[in-house]
Amino acid sequence: MTIVVYVEHQHGAPKRASAEALGAARSLSDQVVAVVAGEGADAAAAGLGGHGATRVVHLTGSHAFSPDAMAQDLAKIVGEHGAKGLFLSATSTGSDVAPRAAALLDSTLFSNCTAVNAAGDGFEITRPWLAGKLIAELSPKSSVLCATLRRNTFQAHSGGGNAEVSQVAATETGQATLARIEAKEEGKLDVSEAPVVVSGGRGLKEPEGFGVIEELAAAFGDAAVGASRAVVDAGWRPHGEQVGQTGKTVSPQLYIAVAISGAIQHLAGMKTSKVIVAINKDPEAPIFKVADYGIVGDAFEVLPVLTEEVRKIRAQG
Ligand SMILES: Cc1cc2nc3c(=O)[nH]c(=O)nc-3n(C[C@H](O)[C@H](O)[C@H](O)COP(=O)(O)OP(=O)(O)OC[C@H]3O[C@@H](n4cnc5c(N)ncnc54)[C@H](O)[C@@H]3O)c2cc1C
Repeated sequence: MTIVVYVEHQHGAPKRASAEALGAARSLSDQVVAVVAGEGADAAAAGLGGHGATRVVHLTGSHAFSPDAMAQDLAKIVGEHGAKGLFLSATSTGSDVAPRAAALLDSTLFSNCTAVNAAGDGFEITRPWLAGKLIAELSPKSSVLCATLRRNTFQAHSGGGNAEVSQVAATETGQATLARIEAKEEGKLDVSEAPVVVSGGRGLKEPEGFGVIEELAAAFGDAAVGASRAVVDAGWRPHGEQVGQTGKTVSPQLYIAVAISGAIQHLAGMKTSKVIVAINKDPEAPIFKVADYGIVGDAFEVLPVLTEEVRKIRAQG
């Protein structure tokens, strides 16, 4: 059973979400075809065997990314390999390409899957419904399973390996092309990729209230700052930091929710985090229902103490 995986890459290596998609595919099949394209794809292609690919298709030619051209190429590669699955990460790029590819394959798209298992000669998938209120277990009937996989949910491949790389000319006739990417500030971690996320909400009262959040994130060293929609809508924080149903889905090792009430739409984006700490002055706040550890108190009193303790622990090595 062949599975094709679309691999997003950066600095000559697959992005973490794509490494996880490759790992998921490899855990199901020994025939995993990774597809890479764009600037730097040659360097990324060379290392994909180590991430679980057994074959790599490097799409050469245009470096301008086009979701519809990419969908055409993926559908073609799925057909040529007689693949049973097409996996993409549930990133903004993956979510842009996947429905187009599913339509070309006359298949249904299963988005944001949290588990994919083999069942007979097909698959069974698990995915959240209604902002995570329900978990659906589904048995797709289409001949090709087209799925986007939730980040931070699947294990990357750790078994090493080599893969033959073939070069194929990319389709150049996309209707939409990516004009430019604006890089984040140097050194800033993306909220969906950081192992620790410190998020703030409306209880911080004003944009300057995020100073305590930034200090705690900086004390960890490997933490990103997140935000609730209330503060993003208020213009206190950029949309790229929003966690939740209409923001990013995160699943870090540690999620610290500060002055966030825990509305269902916020929980939809963070409740699969490994350890959740909630800090809120209202003991009845719904966020405490999903928290592993809760501190009832004023964020402006609790956070400086917590930050100091984190600094001390890190200083001890
Ligand atoms: C279709 C739709 C999509 C949505 N998508 C999202 C989404 O993606 N992400 C998201 O976050 N929301 C989303 N929302 C909004 C969501 O419903 C909530 O309105 C929002 O999450 C509330 O943000 P908040 O917790 O920061 O603010 P509030 O609900 O106002 O909570 C503030 C909290 O801070 C606490 N507090 C106040 N002062 C302090 C203090 N000094 N110290 C400690 N605690 C304090 C309060 O007790 C309270 O619990 C969506 C809503 C809809 C309808």
